[in-house]
Formats: sequence, C-alpha cells, structure tokens
Amino acid sequence: MTDMSSPILATREVRKEFRTADGVIAAVDGVSIELNGGDFVALHGPSGCGKSTLMLMAGALLSPDDGEVEIGGENPYQLGVERRAGFRSEHVGFVFQQFHLIPFLDVLDNVRVCELASKSSADLDIRARELLDKFQLSERLHHVPSTLSVGEQQRVALARALVQQPKLILADEPTGNLDAENAGIILQHLSGFAEAGGAVLMVTHDDRARSAASRSLELKQGKICS
Ligand code: ADP
Ligand code: MG
Repeated sequence: MTDMSSPILATREVRKEFRTADGVIAAVDGVSIELNGGDFVALHGPSGCGKSTLMLMAGALLSPDDGEVEIGGENPYQLGVERRAGFRSEHVGFVFQQFHLIPFLDVLDNVRVCELASKSSADLDIRARELLDKFQLSERLHHVPSTLSVGEQQRVALARALVQQPKLILADEPTGNLDAENAGIILQHLSGFAEAGGAVLMVTHDDRARSAASRSLELKQGKICS
C-alpha cells in the first residue's frame, strides 16, 4: 500500500451514469464508503441498484463520472491505463459469481496468471502452491477447471485473488453458484482475510453470507440507504 494510514478503500460521492436507448440511468448516484483493515462489508440491494457498477469503480476497473476512489490513499484513475492495470493486480483481488477461470490453463497456472500482468517472481509460485494447499487443492494442481466441482473452482478463483497479497478483496456474489457447504468455506476464508488485516467488500443476496460480514450496506437506486 502506498499509505498505511489511509483507508484501504474509500469512495467519495462517486457517480456513474449510463446512456441507453431509454435515456440516462444514474447507476451509482453519489456513494461514499470507507473500508479499513479488518472490515468485511456486505453490500446488498435489489437487482439493478448499482452494486456491480460500484464494485467496478471501487476496483479501478471503471472510471467514475464524478467523485473519487482511493485505494490505500492513491487514486488509481490518476494513473495511465497500463500503470493502473499494474496497480490493480498488486492491490486488489477480485472474486466473481462466475469464476472466470481460464479454461485451457491448469489450476496452478490459473492462480499464477497475474504473472502475465506484472513482474513474475519465484515467491509467487510458492504462494500459489501454499494457497492451493490451504484450500485443499494440492491434488488438483494440474487439472483444468472443467474437471473441478464448482466449489473447487471458486476456491481456485479465491486463491488467484489472494496470490498477490492484496489488501482489498472485491467479491461480487462469490457464493451465488455454491451449495451451503462450499459457500461456508468461501465465507470462512474471506473472514480470515479480513481478520488478518485485509478489507473485503462483498455483494450478496444471501442472508447467510450477509451475516458472515461484520457490517452491511444497502444500496437502492444508486444510493446507500442504510
Ligand atoms: P446490480 O449489480 O445491482 O444488479 P448494476 O450495477 O449491474 O446493478 O446496474 C445498475 C444499472 O445500470 C442497471 O439499470 C443496469 O441496467 C445499468 N447498467 C449497468 N451497466 C451498464 C452498461 N454497461 N450500459 C448501460 N447500462 C448499464
Ligand atoms: Mg450485479
């Protein structure tokens, strides 16, 4: 992190509009949130209320029309596109409902895939193997994703998110495709990440997932309402 005294994630009055055939949609309409180390925050609200748009802006993937995003005190949108990509792979881990694993790479290479975007290191290989061991996947290192169960696939995606040792995890419905047991495993690892000093922002519709978080935010029509 560039600045240890700053929040891990801060958004200040961020806005994003989309122009569609039906007019302009204010997808996110002035949202300010702050996450510090130890925070595990659940974000919920009806479909279309702006959750994914907020996550993309928070993750340095989508530039806000207005307002500011800071990750560890740095505004990623002030960086050029290439440096922003490097900043993102160093500081933010993403987990999605659809796992977005690369089908032709084996488990180990899926976790090491960030080497393509940033400097490779021998440490990365060690960390990838350690994480896969911790997630009970060491027997599966050389299997491709289609041969794994959905629970295993999401653990690979979580290992990939953690391998660069980010301070921030952004998870968009990470348990949406999982049964209760596998959802529980993912939530436990996310809690552990926060307890170790990281910050997690997780979109979820699931009450069980929400209760695993330490704090809950509700979004309605692009605004935080509780
Ligand atoms: P949620 O994740 O809460 O379901 P989203 O953030 O995906 O909501 O979407 C918020 C609103 O913005 C919705 O009305 C959606 O249709 C619209 N929207 C999202 N992305 C785009 C886009 N790329 N182009 C046009 N409209 C979009
Ligand atoms: Mg969404």
